[in-house]
Amino acid sequence: MSGQEVTVLLIEDEPEIRRFLRATLPAHGFRLYEAATGTDGLTEARARNPDLILLDLGLPDLEGSEVIRQVREWTATPIIVLSARDQESVKVAALDLGADDYVTKPFGVDELLARMRAALRHASRSAADVGEPVFILGDLKVDLGRRQVFVAAKEIHLTLIEYKLLTTLIRYAGKVMTHRQLLKEVWGPLHVEEAHYLRVYMRQLRNKLEKTPAHPRYLVTELGVGYRLRTE
Ligand code: CA
Repeated sequence: MSGQEVTVLLIEDEPEIRRFLRATLPAHGFRLYEAATGTDGLTEARARNPDLILLDLGLPDLEGSEVIRQVREWTATPIIVLSARDQESVKVAALDLGADDYVTKPFGVDELLARMRAALRHASRSAADVGEPVFILGDLKVDLGRRQVFVAAKEIHLTLIEYKLLTTLIRYAGKVMTHRQLLKEVWGPLHVEEAHYLRVYMRQLRNKLEKTPAHPRYLVTELGVGYRLRTE
């Protein structure tokens, strides 16, 4: 990352994690602000207006979901949730409330940086509102203008729903999408509980696009949470 420093607000009560990120993030071009409680986090967020927020879900004073709700009242700045391994439902709720992604503790700095870059990329793309006319990932090529899909230069026929599911994942490429978010985007808000739609169509899509559908390279499952179109 070059040019202007990217500002990050870390809302986390565990001193070890704050120390770890304080030691690593500045070396990668991030200016780090810290808060140890949800209340302080909300104050800091308003004062600093950071480019990205890292939010621990287990804070001493406020529920992480409450912090997300309050931040989302005034800004779309990306929020990446830091969660414990056994917090599947909390994680999903956080994403549905408007968090952009999550990393599970303990996490490595490379994984966190990759998630942060994806969230920042997506935020700047949304702000500029310019979609890529052609999306290329390995041997997959999607011409969004002509609505054509190719695998290894061979055109693949997708149904309307398969195409919509694929282009929704492309729009959020690199980011995790919860089942509810995908169902809402593809089938509409009345169908957010119909998780079986998603399973069926994801299987079809993988059969058409993946070399080994059982071990997908592109359309990856985020266990208990949703799906992600892998971009690297
Ligand atoms: Ca905590």
